Amino acid sequence: MSKYIFITGGVVSSLGKGILSASIGKLLESRGLKVSVIKCDPYINVDPGTMNPYQHGEVYVTEDGAETDLDLGHYERFTSARISRENNITTGMVYNSVIKKERDGIYLGDTVQVIPHITDEIKSRIKKVSAGRKLDVVIVEIGGTVGDIEGLPFLEAIRQFKQDTGLKNVLNIHLTLVPYLKSSEEIKTKPTQHSVGKLREIGIQPEIIVCRSEKSITEESRQKISLFCNVEKEAVIQAADVDCIYEVPLRLKEQWLDELIVRKLDIPAFDRGLDIWKKNVVDRAKNLKNAVKIAVVGKYISLKDAYKSIYEALDHAGIKNNVLVQTVKIESESITKGNICNILNGVDGILIPGGFGIRGTEGKISAVKYARERKVPFFGLCLGMQMAVIEYARNVCGFEKANSTEFSSGTPHPVISLMEHQKNTRQKGATMRLGAYPCNIRNDTNSSKAYRRRQIYERHRHRYEFNNRYRKSMEKKGMVFAGTSPDRRLVEIIEVKKHPWFVAVQYHPEFKSKPDMSHPLFRDFIASAWKYKKSRS
Ligand code: GLN
Repeated sequence: MSKYIFITGGVVSSLGKGILSASIGKLLESRGLKVSVIKCDPYINVDPGTMNPYQHGEVYVTEDGAETDLDLGHYERFTSARISRENNITTGMVYNSVIKKERDGIYLGDTVQVIPHITDEIKSRIKKVSAGRKLDVVIVEIGGTVGDIEGLPFLEAIRQFKQDTGLKNVLNIHLTLVPYLKSSEEIKTKPTQHSVGKLREIGIQPEIIVCRSEKSITEESRQKISLFCNVEKEAVIQAADVDCIYEVPLRLKEQWLDELIVRKLDIPAFDRGLDIWKKNVVDRAKNLKNAVKIAVVGKYISLKDAYKSIYEALDHAGIKNNVLVQTVKIESESITKGNICNILNGVDGILIPGGFGIRGTEGKISAVKYARERKVPFFGLCLGMQMAVIEYARNVCGFEKANSTEFSSGTPHPVISLMEHQKNTRQKGATMRLGAYPCNIRNDTNSSKAYRRRQIYERHRHRYEFNNRYRKSMEKKGMVFAGTSPDRRLVEIIEVKKHPWFVAVQYHPEFKSKPDMSHPLFRDFIASAWKYKKSRS
């Protein structure tokens, strides 16, 4: 039977519960345990797929095609856990299935209520993740902050979980903020006491408290938190700010958090340590020799979470190439023909991420043109590939008004158009081409040099695609179709001849990059940016 760790957050949001959950996963893997990590999101959306990135940040796509919370990206980057659609549970999903069961008459005349029907549904979804998988520990992160109205059913469900499953099988960890007050020059434990008090009102007693703070937690404060919150002193763990998020598991291990967890859950577990992670990821990340400047030209630039996996994948590629990747974040709407040279002057590579809607697309197309003509390494992802195709059609093939039908339904040259099976789709949620699909790679391309294999699987999230009517004419003008679906009907990768590194893909490679295993395309993009930088100096 699997054991469970529930992670709640208190005092304020954005304390890094996702990174804590992922780090605990990493720590337990270092103890030879098989884990999975789940995110419970109390919002009513069924999934974040329909949410504005400004509100939610990136939508992370799993191998099996679920649109999920970005914390699942952390889980995949830190651990080797298999993360699929079951690993993200939202209030919307829970109510959807309860209401469907009610309509189907499954409840046999019962009054359907939050307790027990909603809480049962939450518990059964949590248990489903470990069904038949021999997991030692399932880590469950509860989104939001203790005290939020919408989080209550989840907290009630985890309270019941401990009663149902047995005290030794469930551990509650609470992450809180321990603020530092400049005026009195001390750190304050009161918000933590209140937050734990709130949890205890619901019937949850955390066994471990992890404190985020900018200053070191003094022995006295540790003692105070231990006393007032009813936890052992060594179970008050400090999570200080770090330069590199991949350092968090190391800092937690120094305080014996993994030991504490296996002891409390009564799991026999040897210790393999985290030396390889330290050597290959953290030490390297903190000692990078050189630097490259990469322009990320997007539309949600002001919110750093909107392109989370991309920024991470760039960092991984930097670690692999021993260069610090400095991202220059450029709001595509701000680009005009007059200012583009000023804006992009001095960058060593240009990346255009995915996106939806017309806003800022002309700026992105200008950035593609700049990269293509000046032979600056270029990497286009999803919408980024579509922008590259439009640019090439307009400026190389002479299809002046070429566009995607997403932005111009009447364009005379719809080089990007709706996929056939999307034409009659009306519903918005979960209706795109989603998840992993195979792609065959053509020899003698930068893509084949990077992947070093004939067939790859990458994750998708789009409705539009390259319009095959333009394949021949664009190929004649030097566009290379470096990757296609095995039946050759869908263009998945394009490259440009006579350019050192111009690769654009219809999928999202950023979701599969790991700190100790950089994605091959990101790796080679950064390598070519470094080469480009050296060639200029
Ligand atoms: N809007 C484009 C499409 O739907 C690209 C999507 C994306 O970049 N994820 O095809």
